Amino acid sequence: MTTIRFLGGTDTVTGSKFLVEGGRGPVLVDCGMFQGPREVRDLNWDDPFFTEAPLPDEVLITHAHMDHTGWLPRLVGTHGFDGPIRCTSATADLLGIMLPDSARLQQEEAAYANKKGYSRHRPALPLYTEADVERTLALIQPAGYHEWVETAGGRARFSFAGHILGSAHIALESEGRRMVFSGDVGRWDIPVLKDPEPPPGADLLLIESTYGGRHHKEDTDPDTGIAEAVNRVAGRDGVLVIPAFSIGRTQEILFRIRALEDAGRIPELPVFLDSPMAIDATEQYARHHEEHDLEIKALEAEGTNPLRPARLQFSHTVEESKAINRRREAMVVISASGMATGGRVPHHLKRRLPYPENMVAFVGYQAEGTLGRLLVDGADRVRIHGEEIEVVADVVRLEALSAHADQDELIRWVGEAVPERIALIHGEDEGRAALAEAFRVRFDAEILLPVRGDVLEV
Ligand SMILES: [Zn+2]
Repeated sequence: MTTIRFLGGTDTVTGSKFLVEGGRGPVLVDCGMFQGPREVRDLNWDDPFFTEAPLPDEVLITHAHMDHTGWLPRLVGTHGFDGPIRCTSATADLLGIMLPDSARLQQEEAAYANKKGYSRHRPALPLYTEADVERTLALIQPAGYHEWVETAGGRARFSFAGHILGSAHIALESEGRRMVFSGDVGRWDIPVLKDPEPPPGADLLLIESTYGGRHHKEDTDPDTGIAEAVNRVAGRDGVLVIPAFSIGRTQEILFRIRALEDAGRIPELPVFLDSPMAIDATEQYARHHEEHDLEIKALEAEGTNPLRPARLQFSHTVEESKAINRRREAMVVISASGMATGGRVPHHLKRRLPYPENMVAFVGYQAEGTLGRLLVDGADRVRIHGEEIEVVADVVRLEALSAHADQDELIRWVGEAVPERIALIHGEDEGRAALAEAFRVRFDAEILLPVRGDVLEV
């Protein structure tokens, strides 16, 4: 008998962890960190469901985002996992950038919290250290797309998901049953990456529902949104702050800014990429040609660097980042994290939010309880690092830049090979309910809405 235990990423969009028990041993699909409000983040420290579950023999990773991978070093460092971690080659490269950065960020945040005394824990501790990350990275075994690889529980195959570099959906077979884990489903006709591939037929499909209730076609064209934002700050010597996931959104924005500059639709402003991880990830995006779509291949063949706006500047060090805060001229600052929950972007927001010439443009999903969500919901005061900050700058959201498929795209992705059962995961209540409704109308399948702690027979 094969079962799936839902350990996270069911009715929330963070903490994705699915334990498949059957075959020769348990396999964990994704090992995400819980993010967002404190009570959700606290699950990273003491997860009762995880303590009850057996330690996996092996981990399969759909893609490098922290909500799918950020708990790996905790699994290794604290729970003693030492089996193989399988993912695509680009995901392996990205994890080599992201996990050390995550450990550093947590160590820095713990130190900062201790200095300012705003943490509830005294002393504030990091969830894991750089040493835990080093041990984690040593366990990674890259797998090619479209090849079946033997796993503890049976066999598994990775296919293009079109969400970020290296992203895959995973077919996992155990004891004659096939499950497909969607990971995060990307979109068609988006710059840089190839389109998502359809899932193969399965007994059970587990599909994300982040934007299960949204229709992207109602959004403005992403290039128009970016052009308006850049032109607006250019006209009043303001600063456009774009909080962005270092991996995926950042490269798409760089691509679009470069294209808008080339088309003469925006002036060539200084563009600061203020995130060491985003800088390294951009290099990986340029390097992994096997994932590029035809458009970027054609531009590269002409000798253009499509990921490089004319006045792009990298800011590696904290000193360089602070220097941006002293500048008073029209410019664009792209910085992480995408939901403004950590990284360098809260410092930029603290500096720029109180002035009317500035603008903040959010370009991805903002989970409940995050600073990003408060701002897009129209808060006129926010707390950043324990300080009250007045929101005077314009705050906009450019939803069309989402890396997640919307309702119609998720329906398109499921395609022809409709499985008997579909479990909707990785969504908040509204998104999941809307997608469940749409699927029930469309597909002759049993639609399941598991919650954390559920165990489902496959
Ligand atoms: Zn993702």
